[in-house]
Amino acid sequence: MQDSHKLIEADDTAIEAALAEAHVPSLINALVHLTGDVSLIRGSARPVSELFGDPQGGISEGDQTAIRARALEALAAYRDAGCPALPAPPMALVKEMVDFIVGRELDASYGDFLMSELKVFDEDPYRVPFDDVPEDLRRDFQVVVVGAGMSGILTAIKLKQAGISYTVVDKNANVGGTWFENRYPGCRVDSPNHTYSYSFAPNDWPQHFSRQNVLLGYFDRIATDFGIRDNIRLSTEVIEARYQDRKWHVKVHGENGEDTIVANAIVTAVGQLNRPKLPDIEGLGSFQGPAFHTAQWESEHDLEGKRIVVIGTGASAFQTVPEIAQVAERVTVFQRTPPWVAPRPEYHDAISDGKHWLLNHVPFYAKWFRFWMFWTTGEGLLSMVKRDPAWNETGRSISEANDQLRAMLTANVERMVGDDPDLFAKCVPAYPPAGKRMLVDNGHWFRALKRDNVELVTDPIARILPDGVLTESGRRVDADILVYGTGFHASRILFPMKIYGKDGVELRERWGADPRAYLGVVMPGYPNLFCCYGPNTNIVVNGSIIFFSECEVRYIMGCLKLLIANGRAEMNCRQDVHDAYNEKIDAGNLDMAWGSRNVSSWYKNENGRVTQNWPFTLLEFWQQTRAPEPGDYEFA
Ligand code: NAP
Repeated sequence: MQDSHKLIEADDTAIEAALAEAHVPSLINALVHLTGDVSLIRGSARPVSELFGDPQGGISEGDQTAIRARALEALAAYRDAGCPALPAPPMALVKEMVDFIVGRELDASYGDFLMSELKVFDEDPYRVPFDDVPEDLRRDFQVVVVGAGMSGILTAIKLKQAGISYTVVDKNANVGGTWFENRYPGCRVDSPNHTYSYSFAPNDWPQHFSRQNVLLGYFDRIATDFGIRDNIRLSTEVIEARYQDRKWHVKVHGENGEDTIVANAIVTAVGQLNRPKLPDIEGLGSFQGPAFHTAQWESEHDLEGKRIVVIGTGASAFQTVPEIAQVAERVTVFQRTPPWVAPRPEYHDAISDGKHWLLNHVPFYAKWFRFWMFWTTGEGLLSMVKRDPAWNETGRSISEANDQLRAMLTANVERMVGDDPDLFAKCVPAYPPAGKRMLVDNGHWFRALKRDNVELVTDPIARILPDGVLTESGRRVDADILVYGTGFHASRILFPMKIYGKDGVELRERWGADPRAYLGVVMPGYPNLFCCYGPNTNIVVNGSIIFFSECEVRYIMGCLKLLIANGRAEMNCRQDVHDAYNEKIDAGNLDMAWGSRNVSSWYKNENGRVTQNWPFTLLEFWQQTRAPEPGDYEFA
């Protein structure tokens, strides 16, 4: 088990001060590495990982004090010994430490998966080895990667490490994808940063949920550090790709006009949320002042003293309203459906000096902390959003656990705005928790809604006027600026590229409103075309989308190895394999909160089918995408 951390030079007082801020469950496991004392995880101080529970896992104050004192002693001794390399613990002990920190004995099937997250066997368990494939075969194989956001950068790094030739094309002027495009005030990551980062590139995050510029800086730096920049063509958009003579002919448009790249394979890494959607409201376009989408923020407008109308209360509007309300004269927020909001006290908190010190210096502490976040914000949540067929459904919850979640979240809304019954009524959703994306907040949103200059309006907009909006009840709201927080054309996956497969049929025409893929990655009839973040690979509550990308890219690299190492020109997913898989996905999604009939969201297409989400556990995605099964494909 590997770990890299800085040498300890701090004196006892500084160590003690840092330990006061420790996450004790992570510290206990780190102490087992440091001291070899297994009694630490076999005693009475045991964490429980409870939703919205105590961040210290319920470990008593007394036990916490004892652990911190023990840690001070151990860290001082480790420092005085010159910070020697620590021996790898036996596998059985690592499993015991995993069970300890998650608070229960996990099924054996979790073994390899969790060990891989912790990197027990390997520094990069998501890496597919290519050393056994002749170098010239790898060099002669050309891949086009579409998109230089989180998934595209990841794909490029893996291709470079494998020695495969590649070109990345991105429509934007720099790398970073969604973090390059979304610059609205208040934009920040809403998954914990210690899991929203590549497993092979941990970062010293300034905040638990860092701001957009920090995320952009991370991806920008990674592109430089891993040496992929020379292979990226920026400000260049893929117009179409045609599969002819067992090659992809990729037509691109850039600063120097049009050009065609011929490649053996394509990896699309364009995300699901990059084509802004404007609302279908009469009079759209008639507004005389600045009117723009959150993802196309026009920062040149001074918001001070302005009357601003915001349409939508999804994740983007939710983050921007509290910020713009601090400078605007008035903000009127039009809400069609309220979001469920999960309390997250540290949402805006900086990571303190003490926490930074622990993450950077205490051997294995950062690994266990990431693991704790991975578990408590990921796999551990899924059971609360799954339908119980025996539950008496009223449209408001789908199981007893989901109903308890509803009660917990409603109590939070009551704490925040319960003194204003009208506002409270507007803020409690009528659909089950996790029917739509659940948002996280430390009270910022609700405090904004209570400001004198903010109004939450549920009266629908009838039309947009040159100087404001008119509601269905006939009320006029004057505005200087109109902000569309109205989401993206998510179901139009790969839009607006045209991709013509083996039989010349364009992919989105074949899909219609119903994009489907096998494992979210491959489509029959479109050989050697691989998607990152394709159909049914989005998650609603459980985990970080970077985890999914790492699984997808490992699978794609496995596919490329099957092609290159065996001298095959083409691999085409079998239709029957694809269809059987999609049947399971559809049945699975009907069982989840987001599949509920009374929910409409960007997860569903116009026919109500969930086209975006993965309905099962993270473990299942990890297992199914671990390596391609050659029998799933026809080769040529
Ligand atoms: P969204 O979740 O699709 O929200 C769009 C909002 O606009 C909804 O409140 C929707 O209401 C409303 N709306 C749409 N058309 C409307 C109309 N004609 N009249 C009134 N309201 C209308 O879009 P988003 O907020 O941009 O978020 C999209 C996804 O991006 C999120 O789910 C998340 O995955 C991701 N995201 C992540 C972050 C982050 O990590 N920090 C931040 C932002 C976004 P209905 O609910 O009634 O449709």
